[in-house]
Amino acid sequence: MGKNIYVNWQFSGSEAAKKASAATLGSYTSRIMALCDPNVKPILPPLSEAPETSFSAKKAVVEAVLNDTGNAYAPSIGLPAAKSAVAKCLSRDLSKKLTADDVFMTVGCNQAIELAIEILATPKANILLPKPGFPWDMVHAIYNKLEVREYTFLREKNYEIDFDSVRELVDENTCAILIINPHNPNGNTYSEAHLKQLAELARELGIMVVSDEVFRWTVFGSNPFVPMAKFSSIVPVMSLGSVSKGWNVPGWRTGWLALHDLDGVFQSNKIVIAVKNFLAIDNKPATVIQAAIPTILGETHKEFFEMRQSFLKANADFAFAKLKDIPALTCYLKTEACTFLWTELNLSLFADIKDDEEFCEKLATEECLILLPGIAFGLKNWARHSIDMDIFALEDAFARLKSFCERHSTVIEASSVKAVNGVK
Ligand SMILES: *Cc1c(COP(=O)(O)O)cnc(C)c1O
Repeated sequence: MGKNIYVNWQFSGSEAAKKASAATLGSYTSRIMALCDPNVKPILPPLSEAPETSFSAKKAVVEAVLNDTGNAYAPSIGLPAAKSAVAKCLSRDLSKKLTADDVFMTVGCNQAIELAIEILATPKANILLPKPGFPWDMVHAIYNKLEVREYTFLREKNYEIDFDSVRELVDENTCAILIINPHNPNGNTYSEAHLKQLAELARELGIMVVSDEVFRWTVFGSNPFVPMAKFSSIVPVMSLGSVSKGWNVPGWRTGWLALHDLDGVFQSNKIVIAVKNFLAIDNKPATVIQAAIPTILGETHKEFFEMRQSFLKANADFAFAKLKDIPALTCYLKTEACTFLWTELNLSLFADIKDDEEFCEKLATEECLILLPGIAFGLKNWARHSIDMDIFALEDAFARLKSFCERHSTVIEASSVKAVNGVK
């Protein structure tokens, strides 16, 4: 540095994103991953093995490149062809059809979440977010200084939303309730009856429903997916989505926000213009992917989704059964969608682990196995397990987990005492 350090430089990095960034999944993941030593054991879940996307999706992007259809800037609200394709796709199960004007293209579902939060972050407003929930909502509420109130779930009713907790939280400044359906990390899909009740409650309370439906294409449980927009004749609904999870292409960064208006409420309450204004000053998804969206959404064979769903279902069955042999972890619901299992830690069964973060840190250090601590999703002393790996890796992951839990258990088994003493 030498004498340059004595110059009175008149700049310094802003700390505006400091608190929000600490809450991201990325910051938890990288901290835990740094504790794994791949020379000891291969890291699980394997880092390099991303599941394949559909052939028609790949071909659509290649064609957009070869035909120069995605080389130019797209309008800030999205490429018209992509907007109509999303409108058509989302309208398939709806009686109130969307038009291209109701759809806005975003940089993945994450930018759709950011957008929803930015629009709603007026000075006194508060929003209801799920606890546990996907942290990006929380991250951006913190960043935009939108007050967050956290509603909870009924574990004994397959993680339905606890409507009493919603009622208790709402006041005259509550603007919206955000739901995640299928829910990450709980893993359930809401029934039609439950969503209808939610719509009626939201209408009574005068709030809109924002529905993150990014996992709608990986539903494999017995509960079919029902879009929240089915009830947009009761309450205004904003639905958020992307191709990331359904097509296994989170790196393509393309998603959407759709406004399912109710008799012009979004229009008259300045929501539509706010979406356009924020998008005018924000980033856009790459035009080349937007150009491929009509083919991706319209021409992916249902066999592609069915194969993925049956793969995940088999893994969920396998992992759920393995967890039955690990008393220190309780999984109350076998995931019906998504790529995770969500478990509660029974801390009294551990001799030397005080919380979920220490659990995940020791597990990474000793077993090179990455689980995310519940606190990353807003719920302390829980953990989220990925099941998105081949069956051999999954078997290995649960064997490591079991031996780790036994090694740290308060109940010392005769076999582990022998092992500790070096007796084979
Ligand atoms: C992964 C995920 C997102 C982010 O989706 P991208 O399209 O990758 O931005 C949003 N919400 C939930 C619930 C997710 O699991």
